[in-house]
Amino acid sequence: MQATMMQVPLSLNHLLERAGTLFRDNTLVSRRPDKSLVTHTYGQWYRRTRALASALQRLGLKKGDRVATLCWNHHAHLECYFGIPAAGGVMHTLNLRLSPDEIGFIASDAADRFLIVDDVLLPLYRQFADAHRFERVIVFPFSGAPVPEGFDDYEALLAAADPDGFVYAPHAEDDPVAMCYTSGTTGRSKGVVYSHRSTVLHTLVASLADYWGLKGTDVVLPVTPMFHANSWGIPYGCVMMGVKMVFPGPHLHPDDLLDLMQLEPPTLALGVPTIWLTLIQTYERALTEQPGRWKLPAGMRSLVGGAAVPESLIRAFARHGIWILQGWGMTETSPVCTISYPTASLKDASEDERFRRAAMAGVPVPLVELRLRTDDGTDAPHDGQTMGEIQVRGPFITGSYHGAGSPPDKFTADGWLRTGDVATMDVLGFVRITDRTKDLIKSGGEWISSVDLENALMAHPAVAEAAVIAVPDEKWGERPLACVVFKPGQSADARALGEHLLAHGFAKWQLPDRIEVIDAIPRTSTGKFYKLELRRRYAATPSARQP
Ligand code: ADP
Repeated sequence: MQATMMQVPLSLNHLLERAGTLFRDNTLVSRRPDKSLVTHTYGQWYRRTRALASALQRLGLKKGDRVATLCWNHHAHLECYFGIPAAGGVMHTLNLRLSPDEIGFIASDAADRFLIVDDVLLPLYRQFADAHRFERVIVFPFSGAPVPEGFDDYEALLAAADPDGFVYAPHAEDDPVAMCYTSGTTGRSKGVVYSHRSTVLHTLVASLADYWGLKGTDVVLPVTPMFHANSWGIPYGCVMMGVKMVFPGPHLHPDDLLDLMQLEPPTLALGVPTIWLTLIQTYERALTEQPGRWKLPAGMRSLVGGAAVPESLIRAFARHGIWILQGWGMTETSPVCTISYPTASLKDASEDERFRRAAMAGVPVPLVELRLRTDDGTDAPHDGQTMGEIQVRGPFITGSYHGAGSPPDKFTADGWLRTGDVATMDVLGFVRITDRTKDLIKSGGEWISSVDLENALMAHPAVAEAAVIAVPDEKWGERPLACVVFKPGQSADARALGEHLLAHGFAKWQLPDRIEVIDAIPRTSTGKFYKLELRRRYAATPSARQP
């Protein structure tokens, strides 16, 4: 017997058509470099997106050609998300926070043919222009200034194009639509290529009620950059449901984000913990120093991930009526793999238990198979104690890297992705990340979790941020070193911090031997704590034990 269902390929073009025909009056708001807001309806955006696709074909874009973007979060970047694949191309988002050398390397490795760049980012483009020659450089006049000589003008190309006559490039569902390079937190960047099929499936899964829970009346603020891991895929979800989006443009300072939240209150905002930390600290300071300046949108939902989310951060937002969902994933996984949300098993759980679980990575989402492999190659039992490397498999998980195949340190012989993250899983299916394999601290044969120490340190009232790394130690092999940033005007000595950690259930041997008080913790290109840099700074000097 055969199933009778139609074989219609999954396609981003379907999402684009849906938004343009069913939700044409809903809006997309972008913040310009001068901080003014510009609004487009989905109807306008749809025509502009088709015009972009038509213009790219007219410039000679062939199926599978890469079109790089070097852009902030705004409506035109969203046009690229759909217009480039509609024309048969592959959108390659370049991470504007990487060094020019790294961007040049990545553009060459991907063999990018065209580039679409914000005018305000031309100074950055010029720094890697020699490292990779694009055939055409199309400038989006984000600031409103005329496009300089020698470049194509994005708006002029759209104005001259034919959105009505445009015909979608034929495609199979496994054809590529976008690519993104891993941000190289632990090594050289590698390219991941997403397909129509993987993107549509990821969008459907992540939009479920317990995850993004997208509703037609939502207003979504993606603080997560569209140039990394596709802003966690949220732009695709919003277009699928015709949801209003508010794009912050280049203005990611906490004051600017809070201002934007007053002007266009979101119902769902997405960001990484480091930005959310400074956001809530700025907000709480203003409550006493500038009462009435800001009000966090009541009932706003928030998805935070990309790095461990401290329980103290979740509690801080909850005090203001905002519930944080935590997600775990990677560029390689589209990226949503697990989400921590109140499952049925937590129905009668205490408030403390709910917070404890909200600070975990959560439960694997549908279509993602997840296992924990211990050092001896067996599966870790789901006892909440035994640690193993997370390995995943599924239709929106990459099976190789662009031009680099499936190296054995990244993929198992039986076809699972080795994430390099170490975790436990408990009987309720909740995954708790304890570390990246490279960040684990092995002291006297025992593992110490840097994530646990960081979260406990950040729960201290004087601590703004904390990052813990391993430093070599003659006697113990490795010992933990904590880098701590205090809140303005506050401090605590090593003894007080040690007592605080003991009160949080750490054993004496697990406490950091050294505490370095620093002004700021270095960040990676995606805003995470840059432990590689901290190791460079401190790991060379063996632990001088502090009393
Ligand atoms: P990079 O690996 O270069 O930082 P990604 O943005 O793909 O680039 O980051 C994926 C990594 O981020 C994961 O492997 C994991 O180490 C970390 N990560 C993501 N989400 C979480 C989370 N909720 N808790 C802890 N770590 C996380």
